Amino acid sequence: MEAKSFSKLKEKYQTCKKCKELLDCRIQVVFGSGNPNSKILLVGEAPGSSEAKNGIPFCGMSGKILNELLTSVGLTREDIFITNTILCRPPKNRNPNKEEIANCKERLDKLIEVMQPKVIVTIGNFATERIIGKTGIKSIHGKIFDYNDIIVIPVVHPASYLYSGRNPELFKEMKADFEVIAGIIEGNKSQKNLFEF
Ligand code: URA
Repeated sequence: MEAKSFSKLKEKYQTCKKCKELLDCRIQVVFGSGNPNSKILLVGEAPGSSEAKNGIPFCGMSGKILNELLTSVGLTREDIFITNTILCRPPKNRNPNKEEIANCKERLDKLIEVMQPKVIVTIGNFATERIIGKTGIKSIHGKIFDYNDIIVIPVVHPASYLYSGRNPELFKEMKADFEVIAGIIEGNKSQKNLFEF
């Protein structure tokens, strides 16, 4: 990954004005965090209020769950890069709409082009639909898909687990999905230079 291309891309979107409603209440653009040299890209839905305040994706309640899932398979936030389908927080934490996701499409496509991930983990329905055009996360989570020769693994959004009242059965399934991710990474690590961390 060329550091220059990454920082250029990041800089370009700091001043994006495509989504008027999001711009009107924007605190800051939440471009992404973690290791831009990683070959593992996680894509969530949209920044929430903690993310908008801190400028870091998944740094609130959902982020705590995500961190737990990563830790359960020996990964840290520095082993991955994480972003969202859109970079700006929708008002009242509503879902991102089709127009906003379309407005932010070029940015995510470019990020993928610059990072050249080997694995994309799509978190929840919005990210999964955005990347592989599929919905129905309940039935497809933990399965492996292909997107332009990139392995895509959809996972349940941590917010769904929180909405479920922290259903332990659901959490087991979520952990199993992260085992799938870890297995893919291990498999690829044994091939030369596929992973840089
Ligand atoms: N939920 C998301 O989908 N993304 C975040 O960054 C935080 C919560």
